[in-house]
Amino acid sequence: MTKKSTARCGFCGRADRDVSLMLTGLDGCCICSECVEQAWNVIQEHKAVSGFSPKPWGARPLPKPMDIKEHLDQYVIGQDEAKKTLAVAVYNHYKRLTQKVEDDGVELEKSNIIMVGSTGTGKTLLARTIAKMLDVPFSIVDATVFTEAGYVGEDVESILSRLLQAADYDVAAAERGIVFIDEIDKVARKGDNPSITRDVSGEGVQQAMLKLLEGSTVNVPPKGGRKHPDQDYVKIDTSNILFICGGAFDGIERKIAQRLNTHVVGYNSVQNVKRIDQKDMMKYIQPQDLKSFGLIPELIGRLPVLTHLDPLDRTALRRILTEPKNSLIRQQKKLFKMDDIELTFEEDALDYIVDKAVEFKLGARGLRSIVEDVMQEAQFDAPSSEKKQIRITKDYIMERLARSERLAS
Ligand code: ADP
Repeated sequence: MTKKSTARCGFCGRADRDVSLMLTGLDGCCICSECVEQAWNVIQEHKAVSGFSPKPWGARPLPKPMDIKEHLDQYVIGQDEAKKTLAVAVYNHYKRLTQKVEDDGVELEKSNIIMVGSTGTGKTLLARTIAKMLDVPFSIVDATVFTEAGYVGEDVESILSRLLQAADYDVAAAERGIVFIDEIDKVARKGDNPSITRDVSGEGVQQAMLKLLEGSTVNVPPKGGRKHPDQDYVKIDTSNILFICGGAFDGIERKIAQRLNTHVVGYNSVQNVKRIDQKDMMKYIQPQDLKSFGLIPELIGRLPVLTHLDPLDRTALRRILTEPKNSLIRQQKKLFKMDDIELTFEEDALDYIVDKAVEFKLGARGLRSIVEDVMQEAQFDAPSSEKKQIRITKDYIMERLARSERLAS
């Protein structure tokens, strides 16, 4: 009787029946899946600590501001002002990275960005689209996580842990990445006067952020969270990381109006007041309005590029539905096409979706939830049906939404 030989892992010695998978090499040597996993973790940690970078950045030519704007136009509707400002700021930032050390004494300074605009107007989408275009590590963090940093929240340095993870622990790549800090308005201090005691819910976090934004070497816990003494830290130099902050700054229009009103006294004031577009005060935003809102001057100083996003009107929402390269409707069509089904929408069906998003005051985010909601039934039925064409009408959408409303009430 021949005895069936058992493959054993050359690293841990376990037999193939004791592991989920055994890989065999050329000369019959084996490694089990558990050891592969462990080796992978060791490699990642080593990369993080040693700062090993296999691919030098900058092999590709940097797109010009107009190229960046054109690219953004394919994904983001409207917001021309913000697109141009971002395109120039990003271009300058990466030009700065490639600057040669010359002794003309001119050193290009870093230009972090702050975008102000209502929620769901495309701030994150803009930052994400730019990062993707430049093919640099990109991470999004929410400033509210750090609200009580030093107390129960995460340490501010963990902003960089996420970037490091996005860069696959390649420190050099992370050091040229982009970080989007969302909801920066939520760390504004309440009231315009600096508090005597430490303000854990706002100013403390803003103070902690200064160090990151200006460019310094920071000890980062590779896995994020809170720092603790027996942890390995990775040193990250933030001088070449581009920080883009975004926030809705609800109510800042009042601060802008106050400033404009106090400035337009005297001769010509009546005409000036008339010329101010009362419906869209955001376009007059200035750094001092951020200060009135509760950002500390030092933080504002480290975010020298200020831009605003316009509120999305009905026309913009209608365009968002179909025009962007990965618009919601294109995504739906693709999903059905993968089942060989041609999906079409009647124009008034699309108009109705927009009407509902406007009615619910849900903005662009609302479009998505409405589309997901109305398409769910078709997505369930279609793969098992013989139909090769589906046409979505206004009546169909009305019926689906009425059903959801009935269920919700
Ligand atoms: P914000 O960061 O301003 O709160 P997001 O960028 O996260 O908003 O936008 C939410 C979603 O709404 C995006 O995923 C996108 O689908 C859509 N959206 C918002 N604004 C636009 C726009 N201007 N163009 C295209 N899509 C948009």
